[in-house]
Amino acid sequence: MSSELSIKTTHIAQTILNASPTPFIVHNAQKEAVYINDAFTLQFGYTLEDISTSYKWGVNVYPNLEYGHKVREKWEQCLENGIKNNIFKPLEIELCCKNGDQLTVLAHPSPFPESPNKLLISLHDITRHKQTEELVQLASTVFQHSSEGMLVTSAEKKIIAINPAFSNITGFSAADILNKSAFILISKRYDSTFILEMQSIIDTAGQWKGEVWASRKNGEEFLVSATINTIHNEDGSIKQRVTLFSDISEKKEAELLALKQANYDPLTSLPNRTFFYNRLEQEIKNSNITNKPLAVFFLDLDRFKIINDTFGHPMGDKLLIEAGRRIADIVQDEETVARLGGDEFTVILANLNDLNRIGLVADKIIASLNQPFQIENNLVYISASIGITLYPDDALTVDDLLRNADQAMYFAKDSGRSRYFYFTQQMQRSSMERFNLTNDLREALAQNQLEVYYQPIVYLPTQKIQKAEALLRWQHPERGMVSPNIFIPLAEETGLINEIGNWVFHQAVQHAQLFQQHDPDFQVSVNMSPIQFKAQNDWTSVISEVYFSSCNLVIEITEGLLMEDDKQIIEQLLNFRTAGIQVAIDDFGTGYASLSYLKKFDIDYLKIDQSFIRDLSPNSSDMALSEAIIIMAHKLGLKVIAEGVETEQQRNLLYSAGCDFVQGNLFSQPLPVSKLLDLLSSEHTTDSKDLL
Ligand code: C2E
Ligand code: MG
Ligand code: MG
Repeated sequence: MSSELSIKTTHIAQTILNASPTPFIVHNAQKEAVYINDAFTLQFGYTLEDISTSYKWGVNVYPNLEYGHKVREKWEQCLENGIKNNIFKPLEIELCCKNGDQLTVLAHPSPFPESPNKLLISLHDITRHKQTEELVQLASTVFQHSSEGMLVTSAEKKIIAINPAFSNITGFSAADILNKSAFILISKRYDSTFILEMQSIIDTAGQWKGEVWASRKNGEEFLVSATINTIHNEDGSIKQRVTLFSDISEKKEAELLALKQANYDPLTSLPNRTFFYNRLEQEIKNSNITNKPLAVFFLDLDRFKIINDTFGHPMGDKLLIEAGRRIADIVQDEETVARLGGDEFTVILANLNDLNRIGLVADKIIASLNQPFQIENNLVYISASIGITLYPDDALTVDDLLRNADQAMYFAKDSGRSRYFYFTQQMQRSSMERFNLTNDLREALAQNQLEVYYQPIVYLPTQKIQKAEALLRWQHPERGMVSPNIFIPLAEETGLINEIGNWVFHQAVQHAQLFQQHDPDFQVSVNMSPIQFKAQNDWTSVISEVYFSSCNLVIEITEGLLMEDDKQIIEQLLNFRTAGIQVAIDDFGTGYASLSYLKKFDIDYLKIDQSFIRDLSPNSSDMALSEAIIIMAHKLGLKVIAEGVETEQQRNLLYSAGCDFVQGNLFSQPLPVSKLLDLLSSEHTTDSKDLL
């Protein structure tokens, strides 16, 4: 009877197991699968045949051997504990399905009553559940540990959760803020329309993103970048809204600083070149719409370098700041004053109703900069030259406008400084010409177009030629003879003067040796521009190589050079002195050299500038000045050469004033070497006294 019952019971149990949606497996005492239900095959894909032995089970279900080993150990432990305590706990294991899928299951063993080693094991697939659990865990970790502030609001717009970062950023604790409206965090600087608008966007779009000023608990304002998103219920109604935000005040400040650095000059705080370009481009567009012209000023301070060199850069900087302030004071707030760099400023006068205003503003700027500058304990005087160009009359692009204004400024400087010039097409033509001439000059040396001429310098008491000045000549293939007054400044601007100057020097040394055949004491003087003093040269070594006596050489410099507070210049000048080369101050009287400098540098000659000689007549102020210069020079042990002597009267007046040497067309114009040699040989044969 009992076995009948048992057969019946087994049959019923098997039917139940087969019908159950839960996968089951029955292990015999040897832990081999002896039965699996349909749900098992459905879930994991295996038939009983696939997993019937412990080996097959291991190979299929735990392809990772190490993992399989671990699970087996845990399983043994689980069963042992189960038998001991009579409570069998489920074990979480990873199963590999026949199709390769990996599932997490909870394996729950139950021993058969009559044979505890025989097990009925149910396997619950908890993969989805595990994944969700992990996601929730992850979300919670993010919420807790994120550096972004987070807050969750209910459908009723009340704050229901905040994270620790929220409290760190705002200073509000959960107790302070829960159940309050999130809008209380928004800065009071916004009016109700802003908040209503924001609310309406969130309501209609479900999200909002942007930057907004917020207040901390202590009242401090800070800028946040915030994103608000909505979580909906299944029926589409609002469940919660989640706000994520970060404090971007510092980032914003850094951005503003970077913007300032990119657009403003750190010294004067005026807009810089970049800003100026952008603004001018903008103003051009505006002008196209309004049809009102605009003016661009290019302003350069006159002789600023002297201030810098004399008083030092910190003082120069102070002067630039003050100059910038004065210019900005004259124009209107909406007009632009920029500093392009160095002592160059620009002004944009846009939207002009009255063109007369341009000249008025330029006059005011010049007058204002003419006022003395009180820099620390010094009263400093400067002036400014301005070039002005108009849009759209003169040019249409930013670059062209700037170039025009620059050219006009150059002309203002050239015509005496402290003035303004409007750009004209003629300026453009002459600038173009300068440009072409400069290009030609680059070729001149190589093409043998340069030649050194010599102008005799006559010793007045004997009327004999004792010296000659080397003067450069350029025979241009198309233009003919180009004056050094034109091409030397170009050579100086481009730095070509160094190459050209060295060539002149080498020529002069060779030619001097020819002249010395007539007079061993014959001196040749070579002009040397300040630019050349800043470059290296081999002059002293050349002299010693050719056995040329350095006292047969004079270098002509201008007064300005002595005033340059430049170590390199002073060193070079002293080198010449040490090598025995003599030094003459050219064009004396036109610059500002002080007597102490003449003494300090042990100068040998003063060359009185032509401008004093031109109108020389008895009792004229030029006569008085020339006499004064001669007396002073003699007292300091210097000899005097008068330049540009054209008439007998000038020569006689200079002679009577005690002048030592004269140079000028009265005696001879600058001559090619061969002509001077001829002149020197004829002089030999002529009685010099006959000349007087
Ligand atoms: P500078 O050194 O003052 O030379 C004297 C200038 O006066 C020369 O002009 C000369 O030809 C001119 N001159 C001489 N006697 C008379 C006269 O009786 N009447 C008039 N009206 N002019 C007279 P130049 O040759 O045209 O040279 C002009 C300037 O160019 C020179 O002035 C000098 O500063 C510069 N220069 C010439 N050659 C060189 C050179 O090789 N190197 C450098 N750095 N500058 C040079
Ligand atoms: Mg000279
Ligand atoms: Mg001169």
